[in-house]
Amino acid sequence: MKNKIVAGNWKMNNTFSEAEDLLVAIAESLEDMRLETEVIICPPALYLEMATDVAQESNFYVGAQNVSYAEKGAYTGEISAAMLNSVDVDFCIVGHSERRTYFHETDEELVKKIDLLLANEINPIFCCGESLADRQNDNFKLVIEKQIKNTLFHLSAEQFENVTIAYEPIWAIGTGLTATPQQAQEVHAFIRKLIEEKYGTEIAYNTYILYGGSCNAKNALDLFTCEDVDGGLIGGASLSAKDFIEIINAAETCTKND
Ligand code: PEP
Repeated sequence: MKNKIVAGNWKMNNTFSEAEDLLVAIAESLEDMRLETEVIICPPALYLEMATDVAQESNFYVGAQNVSYAEKGAYTGEISAAMLNSVDVDFCIVGHSERRTYFHETDEELVKKIDLLLANEINPIFCCGESLADRQNDNFKLVIEKQIKNTLFHLSAEQFENVTIAYEPIWAIGTGLTATPQQAQEVHAFIRKLIEEKYGTEIAYNTYILYGGSCNAKNALDLFTCEDVDGGLIGGASLSAKDFIEIINAAETCTKND
């Protein structure tokens, strides 16, 4: 039995007091649950320390949404992997399509980010996924293979074991259009095969491959039931404690029925 991971990506949402209320509401709900599922909350950087404080008394992990590709120094506005580590951040999202699109992040920068995160004992959550055009042209597997090989396959097996992958079709992010369970399963199985070819069966099985893209309380169970879907990276629906907890419950149901 492999438990699931449910990670919430808050993106650029919530004021300080709203963030505090949401963290406390989630922590209170989790208190009553005897969880198999690993829960990760990724708030904006400004609230990471508050989140790690709340997490100390709760049973969730804290992730950042971004990290600098540079180690330290004159990079105004940036936050380094060492800084994240110093406030007990456990995970960091890397390669989210919003950052690739709006901030023009390249594979070369993502490699540097991943290497710095691993050097600072932070687990990368690496996002990959195709555009609508790539899906329609039946090009999606090639795109995903390139993203994964370019950015992750320089890692040793030991390093790779700390990486979580999130398959996030761009056409499904924030659009209300979710991949069908069949579409998600097909890509997840494809990603696992790539990992198997490079790192072997055991590491491929143990790697968490999350689905992201309009996953919500209604569709989570169907998605998480797929053999190769190990949980979800949740955007919009992670901003409501009630919806987020329902998604965690869906993950719990899958693990228990496994
Ligand atoms: C995301 O941005 O990682 C995401 C999955 O967003 P949403 O759930 O809102 O589509």
